[in-house]
Amino acid sequence: MFKLPKLPYEYGALEPYIDAQTMEIHYTRHHQAYIDNLNKALEAHPDLAKKSLEELLTQLKQLPESIQTAVRNNAGGHFNHSLFWQWMKKNGGGQPKGPLADEIKNTFGSFDEFQKKFNDAAKTRFGSGWSWLVRDTSGKLAVISTANQDATIMNGLQPLLGLDVWEHAYYLKYQWRRPDYINAWWNVVNWDRVIELYEK
Ligand code: MN
Repeated sequence: MFKLPKLPYEYGALEPYIDAQTMEIHYTRHHQAYIDNLNKALEAHPDLAKKSLEELLTQLKQLPESIQTAVRNNAGGHFNHSLFWQWMKKNGGGQPKGPLADEIKNTFGSFDEFQKKFNDAAKTRFGSGWSWLVRDTSGKLAVISTANQDATIMNGLQPLLGLDVWEHAYYLKYQWRRPDYINAWWNVVNWDRVIELYEK
C-alpha cells in the first residue's frame, strides 16, 4: 500500500507565494487521491503492489492492460507530487551554485534563458500538466512539459525540477493568471534538493 509522504513544512510555510489553503487541499486531497486510486488499481494484483513507483512507471507496458491507464495517471501523480513538495521550501528561490549552475549556463546560455524556457513550457502546456528540467537519455539537460500526470521517467528522463501547472495548484489564489503563479513559484524553489538530484 502506498502512503502519503510527510510534508516537509507547514501548509502556510510558502506564503505569500503559495497560500496555505491551496497547499492543504493540494496535499491532503489531490495527492491523497492519486495514492488511493493507485492502491485501488493494484488491489487485484498483489504481486504488483510490491513494486516501487519507479518500477511501475518504467515498466508500464508490461503491466496488465486493464490497469495501465490508472497506474500511469495515479502512480505518476503520486511520484510527481512527492517530488514537488521537496522542490519547494520557505525562503527558497534565487539561483543554484556550482556544477549545476555551470551546466545550466552551458546548455541554455544563461540562467535567465533557462528560466524563460521553463516558464514558456509551463505557460504553453495546454490544459493540465507539468513543466520540467530533466536530464535526457543522452545525459544533457533539457526543458520539457508533460500532459496530465505523466512522469518523465516513463520516457527515461530524470526529473531535476518540476512545476505543477494543474489549475488545482494555483486557482484559489491566482485564478486564470497562471503566469503570475509561475513567476511567484520561483521564490520558493528549493535548489538544494535540485542539486541533490543533479548529483545523484
Ligand atoms: Mn497537483
